[in-house]
Parts: sequence; structure tokens; C-alpha cells
Amino acid sequence: PGTLYVVATPIGNLGDLSARAREVLSRVQLIAAEDTRHTRQLLQAFGIDTALTSLHEHNEMHKSEALISRLLAGESIALVSDAGTPLISDPGFDLVANARARGVSMAVVPGPCAAIAALSIAGLPTDRFVFEGFLPAKSAARVTRLRELLNEARTMIFYEAPHRLVEVLRDLAAEFGAERAASVSRELTKRFETTYTGTLAQLCEIAEKNADMARGEIVIIVSGNTAPASSAQSFNADQLLRTLLEELP
Ligand code: SAM
Repeated sequence: PGTLYVVATPIGNLGDLSARAREVLSRVQLIAAEDTRHTRQLLQAFGIDTALTSLHEHNEMHKSEALISRLLAGESIALVSDAGTPLISDPGFDLVANARARGVSMAVVPGPCAAIAALSIAGLPTDRFVFEGFLPAKSAARVTRLRELLNEARTMIFYEAPHRLVEVLRDLAAEFGAERAASVSRELTKRFETTYTGTLAQLCEIAEKNADMARGEIVIIVSGNTAPASSAQSFNADQLLRTLLEELP
């Protein structure tokens, strides 16, 4: 049987396509790509002419079956997305989960991922972190989600659309507090790569003044809540006890 390769591709700098990714993309019989035109351009830059087929969020359920049949029949297939690591806020989950369930042989060709790239350069705690992907686009749903994350002690990673940067930073500051440390990385690995760091209030101020901050692709990293929920609770318990004692005859 063939092998399903999950292959990471650059997030903006062609130099980040690994030698092994190139070798695998040239050798497989088929490349399943999120957008075949986009991947065709990448392949052309490296003189690779492997056949392409599309696998995106709208056809994935239906397409996975056909790809798995081809894998079981002996063909090797590479899965790529438009940028970075497949399955990370990108298509591929259905194919990989089903291929696993069917006993297809699999291998990973790791490489760029915007979340990890931004985390590695932010200067915020990296020992424990959570990937939150995209927050809801509508403010009410976003605020609900942020409230669920209020006591999250781990560093949080968010992907965000540039036109929402200012409103998202405002919501983050309002929900997590103006003093929480954070970073905004834009255009990683590209010509205008910039990482802004500071408190949420400071980042809000920069974003409101400087339109460049919201140009291009963006990752927001927010430090976890370092005031443990348990101490807040015991503080409340103390206060409650004091109030009760004052009321006692
Ligand atoms: N699978 C990709 C990965 O491994 O990073 C992520 C795909 S997701 C659809 C696209 C989002 O990733 C963008 O909206 C942005 O938040 C982030 N992103 C991708 N490339 C980036 C870059 N060069 N700089 C900053 N953020 C980037």
C-alpha cells in the first residue's frame, strides 16, 4: 500500500520548503491540495510537476474516501494546504482521521506553522500553551469565548483576520484586563515581518494609530492568567467569612 504524507509548506518564504518536502512532493503520485492553483505555483517554483487534486473544507468528506481507496491500492499521496501545516486551521482532518481508521500508512514532513513561529518569537511563556485558532467573527460570540478563557493559565495563541485586529484587541483588553502581556506578529517570514509586544492596552493603542499593524496575516499571542483562580476563591471566602463575622451578634 501507499503512504499518506502530511507535508508542511512555507507561510510566506519559499526558502522554508524543506529538502525533504521537495523530495516527497516530487516522488508521490498525487498531491491533495487546499487550492490547486496556489499549490501549482509553489510546485512550479521548484520544477515539480506532480498531479494535483483539490481537498478543501467543502469536498473533504466526500473526497477522503476516493483518496483512501487510491492509497490502499498502492499510490502514495501528499497532503498540503495553502500555507503552513495541514489540519492546523486548515483542511485535512477528515482524510487523516479516516486514513488512520483504515490502517493507511502515514508519515509527516514537518515544517512551518504560523502559531509556533509566532510563539517562538513572542517572548511570552512557552512551557505550556493552547492553540485557540480563529475567535468567532461576531463580537458577542467572541466575548463569550473570551470569558470561557478568563482563567486560562497557559499562553494562548489566536489566528486573526487583519480587518478585525483592532476590535479583537479591544475585546481582549476589556475581558482579560488592560495589563495582560501579549504580542501581535504580522507577515512572519515575509518582507514586512513585524512583531509588536506589550500590554493589551499598549497593543490596542499601537493598532489604533498605526494601520500597518493590521496589514497582512496576523497571529495574536496572549499570556495566561497568572493570578490563580483558587487564590481568588480563597480571597473571596476570607472576605465572606469576615462579613459574616461582622454580622454575628
Ligand atoms: N495551516 C496554517 C499554519 O500552519 O500556520 C494556518 C492556516 S490559517 C487558514 C491562516 C492564518 O494563519 C492566518 O489568518 C494567520 O492568522 C496565520 N498565518 C499564516 N501565515 C502567516 C504569516 N506569514 N504571518 C502571520 N500569520 C500567519
